[in-house]
Amino acid sequence: MSNYRSSKPSTSSVKTSTRSVRAAKPALQANGATVEASASFAQLNLSPGLAQTAQRMGYTRPTPIQREAIPLLLDGRDLLASAATGSGKTAAFLFPILHRLQDRSRGSTRALVLTPTRELAAQILDHFRALSAGTGLRAATVYGGVAPAPQVKAFRAGTDVIIATPGRLLDHFQYSYAKLDGLEFLVLDEADRMLDMGFLPDVRRILTHLPRKRQTLLFSATLPAPIVHLAQRMLHDPAAIHIEPKPVPAHGITHCAYAVPPELKTRLLLEILRQEAPTRVLAFTRTRHRANRLADFLDKHSVPCGRIHGSRSQAQRTEALAAFRKGRFQVLVATDIAARGLDVVALDLVVNFDVPGAAEDYIHRVGRTARAEATGNAYTLVAPEDEVGLRAIERGIGQRIPRKTLPGFNYRQKSEGRFEVPLAERIAIIRTRKREERSRSLAKAQRRSNEAKPNLSNR
Ligand code: AMP
Repeated sequence: MSNYRSSKPSTSSVKTSTRSVRAAKPALQANGATVEASASFAQLNLSPGLAQTAQRMGYTRPTPIQREAIPLLLDGRDLLASAATGSGKTAAFLFPILHRLQDRSRGSTRALVLTPTRELAAQILDHFRALSAGTGLRAATVYGGVAPAPQVKAFRAGTDVIIATPGRLLDHFQYSYAKLDGLEFLVLDEADRMLDMGFLPDVRRILTHLPRKRQTLLFSATLPAPIVHLAQRMLHDPAAIHIEPKPVPAHGITHCAYAVPPELKTRLLLEILRQEAPTRVLAFTRTRHRANRLADFLDKHSVPCGRIHGSRSQAQRTEALAAFRKGRFQVLVATDIAARGLDVVALDLVVNFDVPGAAEDYIHRVGRTARAEATGNAYTLVAPEDEVGLRAIERGIGQRIPRKTLPGFNYRQKSEGRFEVPLAERIAIIRTRKREERSRSLAKAQRRSNEAKPNLSNR
């Protein structure tokens, strides 16, 4: 715990220890393999009980704000964090507070969380109840618009954590039962909203009722000047963390996911094209091989289509793109890398024939539709083994993708044989072809050398 000093830390003391962290890519690839090593909750030195709670809550790994903030807070540092709702900031401050409060004497309020709204206070209480299961620690909310009696009781009982809005808390401070002399942690949540709602004078008044020796945490989505000044006043030698907001898909996109057996993906796409008759469709596959197979299938079924992927020459790619732009192709099949920076206006459907490996790729792909305030559709075809990957994407983009079934499509039909030729088989085919080519050219060379031989007997 740090000693609060009345002398103001300079602006630079707030800025110097700033860390900027991008929201991490989801750790799961579509095939479910973990590709990004990241610390687990246990590695953040949280008690085993709390690490288990994280696991039980389905938090497979800490979010960037949790990864950065938890070790600093366990170390007793003050913190200035710019992080928005949805970043996992609530658990980022509740976990270390729970860690530090459990196993110590009870009977006085040791943590105060200040929030701008009643709804947020209620939400934090719910989160607290879920995360504190098994610790025996208790929390109570203190806000206006409800009877004060249970709140008075909470103060008198020395409830471990009080989650309050500023106005009602100040009302209680007029009475002798509302003493927070044993306070060890102060959290100011959504400070910029406090500012917008005119609560900063109340917050400053609240500070005069709190012990100076405490650990203070300030969370704010943005850091306008008044919040920086408040931080300088409230925080002692704070660590500063900046979490960039998660990228989100553009507005105007209608997302949906079609669950389908992998061998019926091509047929389902064909049926979507038949039913909806979109004019320009960009379809993404995981690999070049799959892009070729899909394009071959569409060709076979008379769907005009082009393909762009890493094995195509630049000239072939440019040609395919130009034809797509001119409307000669209804579908352009692409892999992620080939589609980077692709700018096609008036695209009305993006199809993720394969679930992308990361949320950022999803956003990139579907961002090709609904550009510049337009609207468009983004459909993802999901084989059962891709569900895990899709859920990781939903977490990454912070929204659920509605599941749909295509009316009139026979999900039980037999497939037209295999879609993908396994790699080993492809390698064997290539080897055989090369062997045949080699023996053909050997035979040719032999023939030529025989022809070139002088026919001495005829002389
Ligand atoms: P918050 O930013 O605190 O409002 O949290 C946003 C949502 O993220 C809440 O529904 C949390 O339950 C959830 N959440 C928090 N931490 C994690 C995590 N490590 N993994 C997955 N979800 C989380």
